[in-house]
Amino acid sequence: MQSAAVPLFSFDNTYARELQGFYVPWKPAQAPSPRLLFLNQPLAEELGLDSAVLRGDEGMAIFAGNSVPPGAEPLAQAYAGHQFGGFSPQLGDGRALLLGETLDREGRRRDIAFKGSGRTPFSRGGDGRAAVGPMLREVLIGEAMHALGIPTTRALAVAATGESVPREKMLPGAVLTRVASSHLRVGTFEFFAARGDIDKLRQLADYAIARHDPDLAGTPGRYLELLRRVAGRQAALIAQWMNAGFIHGVMNTDNMTISGETIDYGPCAFMEAYDPHAVFSSIDHNGRYAYRNQPPIAQWNLTRLAETLVPLMAEDDDEDAAKQAVADATAVIESFGPLYQVHLLRGQRAKLGLSDAGDDGAAADTALANDWLGLLHAQAVDFTLGWRRLADTAAGNDAALEALFADAQPLRDWLARWRDSCARDGATSPEARAEGMRRANPSVIARNHRVEEALAAASERGDMEPFERLLSAVRNPYADNPENAAFAEPAPAAVTACYQTFCGT
Ligand code: AMP
Ligand code: MG
Repeated sequence: MQSAAVPLFSFDNTYARELQGFYVPWKPAQAPSPRLLFLNQPLAEELGLDSAVLRGDEGMAIFAGNSVPPGAEPLAQAYAGHQFGGFSPQLGDGRALLLGETLDREGRRRDIAFKGSGRTPFSRGGDGRAAVGPMLREVLIGEAMHALGIPTTRALAVAATGESVPREKMLPGAVLTRVASSHLRVGTFEFFAARGDIDKLRQLADYAIARHDPDLAGTPGRYLELLRRVAGRQAALIAQWMNAGFIHGVMNTDNMTISGETIDYGPCAFMEAYDPHAVFSSIDHNGRYAYRNQPPIAQWNLTRLAETLVPLMAEDDDEDAAKQAVADATAVIESFGPLYQVHLLRGQRAKLGLSDAGDDGAAADTALANDWLGLLHAQAVDFTLGWRRLADTAAGNDAALEALFADAQPLRDWLARWRDSCARDGATSPEARAEGMRRANPSVIARNHRVEEALAAASERGDMEPFERLLSAVRNPYADNPENAAFAEPAPAAVTACYQTFCGT
């Protein structure tokens, strides 16, 4: 057993140290009756933390916010953001705190932060709290995304506070401990840009570069290159979302990271029946953040980031330099669409069992993928199951896929085209192609009805077993595990039709 004198975390807090004026030092609220609901053992190991201690009283006190671990310098970060298109010059950590940073086993710097740890100077009208259900939801979706190979922030722990949180009804309260490459957002840049504080903007941009793109540090064109790197990471990320059928639900600029990790699992969901217009968030009345809008919204958000960086690119009052900066930034923003298409097609080719031939045959492969998606859409086929059973088809079993289609004829026509493409692609054996496709097309995703089931059991009855079972299934998404077969099945259509998720919970 580790003694209390040995610090649990080895904090090294660059944000607190180097970015004074970018945050307010703050303390988490006390939880009256803490209980540890979840500890992420694999992540704890990745961070080099002692899981046995974390599971004990000391860990519980830390994760509930009752004991600030040695070396932590809790602070609420300032940020702004465009929410549903409208600008809020001041948002900030209204119910979150950055505890500090630690280097993981591979030397990567990771933020350790709370969500639901009480009011802060940025809380506005909010209560600073979070409920058990939504915090466990963040665990499930984050771990599912991580297992799918999609960059994401991850949950280290969830502690129940013993307090009740007033929402539509009273709900048990919780604190989530979140691990992220950083919590720098597009909105962090917007906060200082809105105040015209060019010195702080530069300081922030240089900090972001040191943290995420250290090879750019000190180089002359670094702010333009930072924009290009962020755009590149977001293009790759959104393509992965799209290929997983993931809908974030609230792509406000304060929820878009500089690191390229997915952040803030509120009203998000994995799509079931394929529909590009799908939207789940109860507050997204106009479908701004619908599935098919995610790439253009990412580009819109990056344009907001570009606007904050342009003044850094051309600092002296030289009009030509200013024009050039706008032109350069615009070119980066305009390259987002084509870059996104490259990432999307790379993922689609893997899902189709085709090799990545770059530009060769790109138009034909894109058409093949689009026509496949068109089929799924026309017949409301489950996105995940459709792709997964396409792998069975590669191994010679068409029946399982055909069973998903009310009218199999258009599918058969498409399969004939696809088989031609496979034949042209190379002499892979059918089984090898199917195996490769099964590594690109998950069997298990965090299906909405299963997530809700697990959260209701945990939140209403204190029964963590459905949560544990679902968590273990989504952590192993590519296996055909008979034990997890139930988690691979879609919900009855009637359930899906009225499914909504809620934000700000
Ligand atoms: P989110 O929708 O979680 O990305 O949050 C958007 C903004 O609202 C952030 O500034 C949050 O800190 C703030 N916020 C959300 N919920 C609460 C709450 N219950 N109390 C205080 N602030 C909140
Ligand atoms: Mg947020």
